Amino acid sequence: MSKYEFWFVVGSQFLYGPEVLETVEARAREMAAEMSKHLPYPLVYKVTAKTNKEIADVAKEANYDDACAGVITWCHTFSPSKMWINGLASLQKPYCHFATQYNKQIPNDEIDMDFMNLNQAAHGDREHGFIAARLRMPRKVIAGYWKDEKVLGRIGSWMKAAVGVAVSRGMKVMRFGDNMREVAVTEGDKVEVQTKLGWQVNTWAVGDLVKEMNAVTEAEIDELMKVYEASYDIATDNTAAIRYQAREEIAIKKMMDAEGCKAFSNTFQDLYGMEQLPGLASQHLMAQGYGYGGEGDWKVSAMTAILKAMGEGGNGASAFMEDYTYHLVEGQEYSLGAHMLEVCPSVAAKDKKPRIETHHLGIGMNEKDPARLVFEGKAGPAIVVSLIDMGGRLRLICQDIEAVKPIMPMPNLPVARVMWRAEPSLTTGVECWITAGGAHHTVLSYDVTAEQMKDWANMMGIEFVHIGKDTTVESLEKELFWNDIAWKLKAI
Ligand code: MN
Repeated sequence: MSKYEFWFVVGSQFLYGPEVLETVEARAREMAAEMSKHLPYPLVYKVTAKTNKEIADVAKEANYDDACAGVITWCHTFSPSKMWINGLASLQKPYCHFATQYNKQIPNDEIDMDFMNLNQAAHGDREHGFIAARLRMPRKVIAGYWKDEKVLGRIGSWMKAAVGVAVSRGMKVMRFGDNMREVAVTEGDKVEVQTKLGWQVNTWAVGDLVKEMNAVTEAEIDELMKVYEASYDIATDNTAAIRYQAREEIAIKKMMDAEGCKAFSNTFQDLYGMEQLPGLASQHLMAQGYGYGGEGDWKVSAMTAILKAMGEGGNGASAFMEDYTYHLVEGQEYSLGAHMLEVCPSVAAKDKKPRIETHHLGIGMNEKDPARLVFEGKAGPAIVVSLIDMGGRLRLICQDIEAVKPIMPMPNLPVARVMWRAEPSLTTGVECWITAGGAHHTVLSYDVTAEQMKDWANMMGIEFVHIGKDTTVESLEKELFWNDIAWKLKAI
C-alpha cells in the first residue's frame, strides 16, 4: 500500500502578507502530518498555492508522478480561482476538495478581523468550489473538521477509490481463449475500456499456457503444495488433481507476471491440452489479488482485481461471483451465489478453513475431476457490482446486499457459496437489476462501498447506477431514461 500517496495543495494569495502565508504553510504541514496518521495512504503537503504557475506546476508534477494517486485541495484563506484554471484544467489525477477549517470553534474573545482574514475557509472554499463546477471537473467534495474521525474515514474511503483509478489505468488482462459462445453480457468494446478505464485487454493462446504448464517442475509444485496445506483443509485423496491445479496456477502466474497482467479470464469451452478447468488454481490466484472472470468475462476479471486493490490492505474481501438460484420463501428471500469452481477464499467465513475437494465437473472438456476450494461466505453488509457495455458507453451497476450465513448446509453442493438478502428486497432488487441490464457475473465485495464505486465511476467518467434500500423500479426507469439522453449528449 505504501506505493501510493496523496498530495495536499492549499490555496491562498499574497494579499494578507508574509506572516499569514507562513502560518498557512505551517498549519497545512501540521494537518497533513496529523491526518496521515489516520488515513490509509500518506497525505503529503506540497504547496501553499498563490500563483497560476505554482498551481499549474503542481498539477503537471502530479500527472507525471506515478506515486501520486490523487490531489486534495483546501483554501485556508481566500484564493482567487482564475489562477487555478490552468492547473485544474490539466489535472489528470483524482481530485478531492476538502472543505475544512484549522480551528474547530469560533473563539469568542480572540476573534477580530485578523482572525477572520486568516481563517476564511468558508469564504475561500466557495470561490474554490465554483471553478471546479464551472470546469465540470469530476471531483469529490468532503466537508468537516479535519480531526473528526468520520471525516477522516470519508477521506480514507475516497483515497481507496482513487487508488482504484490508478490500478484501473495500469490494468492488463490476460485472456485465455475467447468469451463463451453466444453469450452477450460478457462481450464488450476493448477500445472503449482502454480509452475510458485504461485497461489493456489481450489474448494469449491456451497452447502457450499448456507449454508453460509442461515446463513447471515437481519441485515448484511441492513448494505450492506446502502453501495449500498450510492455508486449506485437504479433503480429498486425489493428490494428483491438487498437484495438477498447482501446475496450472504456477504456469498462469508466470505468464501473467511476465506481462504485468493483474487479471485473467478463461473459458471451459477452450481447455485444449488441459485436463482440468483451473479451479483451486484460479481461487488461490484471486486470494493473491489477481482478478478472474469465468466464461471469458474479462470485464468482471478486471473489476475483481480493481475492487481487491481498493479493499483493506490493498487486497480486500472481493470475489468474482455469479447469481445462481433463489430461495423465494416468504420472509426468507435469499440469493445463492457461487460459480462452477472459482470463488475467491477472501470472502470465506473465518470459522473454518476452506476445504480442497475434487468432484466431477460435467460442463466443459474436463478429462479429470478438478480440485476446488469449498466454503461458505461470511455474513455482513456487502455490495455486488457489474460493469456492462451499453454500446457507446459503459454502465456500472452496484447493488447493496446483506450477506448471511447460508440458511442450510447444502451438503451435496460441491462449490463455494455465498447467500445474501438484496436491497431493497429480493424481487424488487431483481426487477431493478434486470431493468438496468446487470450481468449474472458480478464482483461481490465486503469492504468496498457503493459510495466508493460511485466515486470510482465518477473519476473514470462512466455511468453509475446504484440499487439500494430506497430504489424503486419506477424511479430507476426514469433515471435510466434520462441517463440515456444525457450520455448521448455527452458523447457529441
Ligand atoms: Mn459464469
